[in-house]
Amino acid sequence: MVDVVIVGGGLAGSLAAWRLRTRRPDRTVMLLEAGPVLGGNHTWSFHATDLAPAARQWMAPLVAHRWPRHDVAFPGRRRTIDHEYCSITSSRLHDVVSAALGDGLRLGTTVDALTPTTVRLATGEGIEAGVVIDARGGGPVDVPLGWQTFLGQDVVCARPHGVTHPMLMDATVPQDGAFKFIYVLPWSADRLLIEDTAYADTPGVDAAAARGAIARYAEARGWQVREVVREETGSLPIPLGGAIDAFWTGDVPRLGMRAGLFHPTTGYSLPDAVATADHLAGMDPFTPARVYSEVRTMATRRWQTRGFFRLLNRWLFRAAQPSERARILEQFYGRPADLIARFYGARLTAGDHLRLVAGRPPVPVWRALAHLRE
Ligand SMILES: Cc1cc2nc3c(=O)[nH]c(=O)nc-3n(C[C@H](O)[C@H](O)[C@H](O)COP(=O)(O)OP(=O)(O)OC[C@H]3O[C@@H](n4cnc5c(N)ncnc54)[C@H](O)[C@@H]3O)c2cc1C
Repeated sequence: MVDVVIVGGGLAGSLAAWRLRTRRPDRTVMLLEAGPVLGGNHTWSFHATDLAPAARQWMAPLVAHRWPRHDVAFPGRRRTIDHEYCSITSSRLHDVVSAALGDGLRLGTTVDALTPTTVRLATGEGIEAGVVIDARGGGPVDVPLGWQTFLGQDVVCARPHGVTHPMLMDATVPQDGAFKFIYVLPWSADRLLIEDTAYADTPGVDAAAARGAIARYAEARGWQVREVVREETGSLPIPLGGAIDAFWTGDVPRLGMRAGLFHPTTGYSLPDAVATADHLAGMDPFTPARVYSEVRTMATRRWQTRGFFRLLNRWLFRAAQPSERARILEQFYGRPADLIARFYGARLTAGDHLRLVAGRPPVPVWRALAHLRE
């Protein structure tokens, strides 16, 4: 019998399996992934300050690129922030984690059913485990949502593009019907990831429109795109209210998006996945009831302390017209860099809450409070 079976080798499942394997070599870990590789086709980025210093160290082998600063741009504000930004590629995640797991990794393995101690594969094979953990990614959940939708292209330019550090949000682009911005990561002198992003009321991406927006953006900057080598797309849930219990159906412990462990306003889950992996690796004894209760408690605490972010989301999605959303973000980016770092790390203080709604916001915050009952 295997000690731990993790179902789903995406971000959260891979990090948890890797961390357990490294910190608890006495436990046998099996990671089951339906796809041909770990992590699918993704770029995951984070601010260095999103992670605790010790986590930054153990995550270092996964970081494919890091930059000392990043930019944002709005019609009335441009800013460079001297905080480190890092990216992990799914191919790097696959290489590092698959090497560490060895024959504890089974790719191309779809799980049909799971209980806290058993797994049944699509082939009919059954596996027994001390603990089964469900990391199969996000699914439908009964809370009110807005969406962060995007399509990104890795492009090769005919000449050096001259970009030295990321542009996290260029909201000077046309804002048709949603808060829209372009996100750019410079991979090398001639290679970029260019992502067309929207804070939209519905999920899904109009791929042709997004490709057009990326092409126009590249052309306006004089980047001659020679080849598009990869595309990635996503619709990340942005909760406007609701309860964490909506994520925790069933009795199998969960991880990642499926556990509601993500930043409410950005939809990003990497910092929570890192913290959960660390927590699991330090847990002893390791039983289904204990893993379920501790991870659920962790998700619940994070959900409860992040109510302010869901208020901000209602402000963005319910109080503001799509055309006004950019102005809220533009004002946000006028705040001190440390506050912005705490925002991305989901560590805002009560003082930060006041600072963010004080003054003369472009959209009155009481309009968001009017949607509180959601
Ligand atoms: C394109 C994209 C870019 C993103 N960029 C960022 C970012 O920059 N920073 C950030 O923090 N967040 C980012 N996110 C948000 C979030 O971090 C990711 O969605 C992240 O991958 C979620 O991790 P997860 O492990 O919960 O789910 P996933 O990574 O989706 O993993 C779930 C895994 O389970 C597998 N699976 C599903 N069903 C079964 C089954 N029945 N049997 C076996 N395996 C199964 C899937 O194949 C998949 O590999 C991004 C999301 C997307 C879609």
